[in-house]
Amino acid sequence: MTVALTAENVTLTYPDGAGRLTALDRVNLHVTGGSVAAVTGSSGSGKSSLLAVVSTLTRPDSGRVLLETDSGTVDLTSLGRRAAATVRRSSVGIVFQQPNLLSALTAIEQLEVTARLGRRSRTPTPRRRETRSKAGELLDAVGLGDHRTKYPAQLSGGQRQRVNIARALMNDPALLVIDEPTSALDTERGAAVIDLILTVVRQRGAATLLVTHDRTHLHRMDAVYRMADGTLDRQSVPVA
Ligand code: ADP
Ligand code: MG
Repeated sequence: MTVALTAENVTLTYPDGAGRLTALDRVNLHVTGGSVAAVTGSSGSGKSSLLAVVSTLTRPDSGRVLLETDSGTVDLTSLGRRAAATVRRSSVGIVFQQPNLLSALTAIEQLEVTARLGRRSRTPTPRRRETRSKAGELLDAVGLGDHRTKYPAQLSGGQRQRVNIARALMNDPALLVIDEPTSALDTERGAAVIDLILTVVRQRGAATLLVTHDRTHLHRMDAVYRMADGTLDRQSVPVA
């Protein structure tokens, strides 16, 4: 499977009083399937804006975001709302800082609901049993095999974030964007979540952008970018 994400000269501004605030200033990046590019930078530098643009949630003022898969290359910035929503459901996994799980669903049900949403309309309904077994496999992969039938309130913060990550992988996304997944976790649980991300991304082949303020993991990433005032620069990966 060929997968790659390429951002070319992406600029995004927001209205700001009488003028405009430049959140992304001619940003370029390239991530291939199965690898993780970390994005660091201080608060307000534009990291979340970058994730919103590459995951089609926000349309930039200019520039292109190319997602290459076996079915061809799509410029994500050229899609209308409906097409963008379809691509998001079928090809993009999104993990926000806070796991926004549905309190009335068990861990395995969170994943099953996502599978139902992600189905392309013309493909036949996958059997419920297949969906359930895939959800179970992913929960095993994130170390929650014994917690499948627990509700969010019965899980710790780290476990909820693991469900969140498993859910983002449910539709085998070509592109995975993850925003500060460890910010609500202690050091040890945070390290375990980063381990998990690196392992599952390499197994499953998603092109992954990982925003993190935690510099201790950077040496394990395939690439490190630094954001400052909307400008993105590639750094050399630090030595362990
Ligand atoms: P980071 O994730 O690095 O903290 P953000 O991408 O959230 O940075 O924000 C970059 C800049 O854009 C900040 O100055 C922020 O205040 C501004 N910003 C973010 N989202 C919006 C928005 N929806 N409307 C206006 N300004 C925004
Ligand atoms: Mg942010």
